Amino acid sequence: MYLSCTLCKKEFNNLVEGVKYSSSAIGVISFCSDKCCRIYLNEKLK
Ligand SMILES: [Zn+2]
Repeated sequence: MYLSCTLCKKEFNNLVEGVKYSSSAIGVISFCSDKCCRIYLNEKLK
């Protein structure tokens, strides 16, 4: 399944790459890489 990264909008295959993050506040969001996940959360939690 192809998903688009929440941060950079790049499309990626979630079976081979990408990370999923979930929290009760944000819900479930997907990123193409661990790096995008960290950047996004840093922005969110600022
Ligand atoms: Zn990304």
